[in-house]
Parts: sequence; C-alpha cells; structure tokens
Amino acid sequence: MTNILVLGGGFAGAYAANTLDDLFKHDDDVAITLISRNNYMVFTPLLAEVSGNVIEPHHAVPPLRSFLKKARFQMAEVREIDTKAQHVVVEHLDGGTVNLPYDYLVIALGSDTNYRRVPGAQENSFDLKTLEDAMRLRTHTLALLEQADVSTDPEERHSLLSFVGAGGGYAGVEGLSQLQDFTKRALRFYPTLRREDFTFTLATRGEELLGEGDERLGRYAANVLRRRGVKVRTGVTVKEVKPDKVLLEPGGWVSAYTVLWAAGIEVNPLVRSLDLPKTKQGALIVDGHLQVKDHPNIFALGDCAAVPKEDTTYAPTAQNASREGIVVARNIHARIRGGVEETFDFHPIGTLASLGSHQAVAQVWGFPVTGFVAWLMWRAVYLAKLPERGRKVRVFIDWVLELLLHTDIVQIRVEGGPPIERARPDDAPVAPGGPTESEEGKPERPDEETVEASAAASQ
Ligand SMILES: Cc1cc2nc3c(=O)[nH]c(=O)nc-3n(C[C@H](O)[C@H](O)[C@H](O)COP(=O)(O)OP(=O)(O)OC[C@H]3O[C@@H](n4cnc5c(N)ncnc54)[C@H](O)[C@@H]3O)c2cc1C
Repeated sequence: MTNILVLGGGFAGAYAANTLDDLFKHDDDVAITLISRNNYMVFTPLLAEVSGNVIEPHHAVPPLRSFLKKARFQMAEVREIDTKAQHVVVEHLDGGTVNLPYDYLVIALGSDTNYRRVPGAQENSFDLKTLEDAMRLRTHTLALLEQADVSTDPEERHSLLSFVGAGGGYAGVEGLSQLQDFTKRALRFYPTLRREDFTFTLATRGEELLGEGDERLGRYAANVLRRRGVKVRTGVTVKEVKPDKVLLEPGGWVSAYTVLWAAGIEVNPLVRSLDLPKTKQGALIVDGHLQVKDHPNIFALGDCAAVPKEDTTYAPTAQNASREGIVVARNIHARIRGGVEETFDFHPIGTLASLGSHQAVAQVWGFPVTGFVAWLMWRAVYLAKLPERGRKVRVFIDWVLELLLHTDIVQIRVEGGPPIERARPDDAPVAPGGPTESEEGKPERPDEETVEASAAASQ
C-alpha cells in the first residue's frame, strides 16, 4: 500500500487531495488521507462579506469531505512532521495522538498573520483570516453600534465608531469597505447614530492601494473610498495598537476600538520549525515540480512554499495555491505510475477586489475594469470558483436577500461576553459619563454597575 498524506485543507491541500482522489480512484493500492484542523476549507475571498453581514458564515466554507470520494479525511492538528522516520504526528479532537506513516507527503499548511512585532497588534486588533475572525468582527461591529447608541460621552462614541484598516492589500481594502457598507446598511436601526459619526481610516505603508495589481486600480480604489469618506493614508506605518487607539507614523494616535489587521502574512510556524530547505522567511524551497529540494517524496505548495517563477516566486494567492494543488497531484501520480511530470507555470487572467456598495476593481488580461461592471464580474467569478453546488446556491441566495431585505442586526454573543470587552483593558472602573485616562494613560472600562446605571438612565 502506498500512503499519501496531504497536510492542510486550504486551497492548496483541498485541490491536491481532490485531484489525487480522482487520479487514483481505481487504485486500491494507494491510500490518500487529507488532514486539517477544521473540516472545511475557508473560501477567503468571501470572508469580508461574512464580516460585513452579507453572507452567512457557513456558506463561505465548503466542507472538505465534499472534495473527496475514496480518500479519507481526518480532522486533526498536525503536531510534528518526522521526515527521517517518515511519519506525521497528529492530535485528534479527544487529545489523543497518532503517528501516520507516509510514502508521499504533501505540505500545504498555509500561513499565519504577521503582526510584524508591532506592540499590541496581536492582542488588540481584528484579523480576517479564519471564519471565526470574520464572525468575531461582525459581532464586534454590532456590539459597537449598540454601545454607541447608549453612550453619552462624545469621545467614547467617537472611538466606538472609528474603524482603522491596517494594510492596503486586497484583504485590508475589501475588509474595511465591507465594514463601512455594513454600518451604513445597519444605520436605519440606530436612529441616534448618523453617518457623519463614523470614521474609517485605511493606513498602508505602500504608496498605492492594492500594490499587487495595476497601479491604476489602486488609484481608482483610493478615489472611490475617499469619495465615500474613507481617510486613505498611504506611506503610513502602524507603530502600536492599544484597545481603543492606534499609533500611525506619521499621524500620531487615532482613536479606534476596531483595528482590522491585514498587514501581511508569515509562513505557518510548524513549517518554519521543519528541518527542510527553507528561505529566510521560512517558506519551503521547492523546484518547478513543487518537490521540496533534496526530498523526492515531499512536496510543498501554497502560502507555505516558495514556488519558483522566473527570477522570483509565485505570490501567496488562492489562485496559485489551488492550481499548484492540481500540479502536485499529477506529479505524484506520475512518480508512482510513471509519466512526465509537470512544471508549475501559471499566468492568471486577472485579479479582482470588491469595494462594497456595488463597486469593485478588476484587472483582466492586463486591462483595468472598475465600478459596477467590475462588481458584477467579481460576484460572477467567485460564485463560479466557489466549490460545491450547494454553497453556490446558498451564497447566491444570500446575495439576492441582501438586495431585497434590510441587513440583519441580531448580535449573538458567541464568545460568552460582549466582544466589545475584547477591545478594552480588563481592570477598569470608570467615572460615570465615560472613560477616563488611567495613570498609564489607558482608557478605563465601565464596571457593571455603571453600565447598568447608564442603561437605566437611557430608558
Ligand atoms: C481575507 C482574505 C482574502 C483573500 N482574497 C483572495 C482573493 O481574492 N484571491 C486570491 O487569489 N487570494 C486571496 N487571498 C489569499 C488566499 O486566501 C491564500 O493565498 C490561500 O488561502 C493560500 O492557500 P493555502 O492552502 O496555501 O493556505 P491556507 O488557505 O491558509 O490553508 C492552510 C490550511 O492548513 C490548515 N492548518 C494549518 N496548520 C495546521 C495544523 N498544524 N494542523 C492541521 N491543519 C493545519 C489550516 O486550518 C488551513 O485549512 C485572501 C486571503 C485573505 C486572508
């Protein structure tokens, strides 16, 4: 029996396992196992719409088992990869660990958020990488609206309704745009709040937004956002994040209970710890066939691999990762059954970024497309790419409902407490009427009595 283990159920791993499953469907002497932490694949291009309350969370994550027929899936945490003993140690949900031997290993463990050692960024900002991140942001935003509605302190209210996006790439631009759109749609339920009460700031180190694409797209996106009142700040570095404010340089402190962190990624920590050839950033060095250097039975792809492209490497995108998955599967098939191996060579037709409010930017065959047409293209392309027919139908219905109905403002406390507390210091009694500065200069949080008192006063 030949054992093929695929680690990671993101774009790279899911497509590798799906193609292997297909290629070996009649071969009883080959066992394929996909291992991942969750039993679904996160379709990241839809995450901003989840946080913006357009799409129901479950609809943006196709189940991994739907990619497989003959291959097995194990929901488990990969703890260790022993390349000498040729096994992987995985931990199942009950905490028990098992060693899974392999003949061929596919490493597709992706990336984590890079907080760039910015003090407070990890603790005090909101990420947009997992489904939980998107749900947390959505719940938090609704909590802010509820709190702002009852707040009598203008300064606190300003901070509650101030949103800062850190990072001018696709995730930062799409994430902040959706938040603005969401709060705008929710306003009809909050008569005490006005659009002018909200502040949206997008800060990026680069000189243009969407630096990965055509600079005309970046300029168009910046113009659209500025027209909508977003303060687009280019050439700006985030230096520190506190629960209720963020330090920009140049610019100084900006009050904000919400910092959306989309300022970069780093290779998965487990991959960085492996004794395999790696770049300085920790990405696995592979050849054009996606085989790890000097390891004929180990392949790596997606965000955790440095896939060679002329004199550079392929960008960490879903487009590249999913196609790399297909090539890895074909090359493993060729190695086991004989045949010619493929070199990964992919030129995307284009890139797309949604700006919310029925606007988007796109670059197709090198030509920029903007506005409503680009937005229609964005939706058509991602609906087509979304795996599984059932998900497509669900997302399509969500989009239709968004056009027909008011946004849903039900705020469910998924984490057992108002998420707004996450954005505040822990031990902070406060004077009635709003937060004060503590000795360390931190704003303070109302104790429960004060909250109850102000709630009663507002009735
Ligand atoms: C908000 C957002 C929007 C994006 N939009 C686009 C877009 O529009 N177009 C585009 O091309 N790209 C986009 N990207 C980038 C794209 O999502 C990534 O490049 C892509 O997901 C990389 O795929 P991957 O399989 O390498 O890694 P991932 O998708 O990160 O998958 C890694 C998988 O490994 C699992 N895993 C990790 N560690 C372990 C462990 N120890 N044990 C078990 N399982 C583990 C994870 O749970 C995950 O399932 C976006 C990214 C974000 C965050």
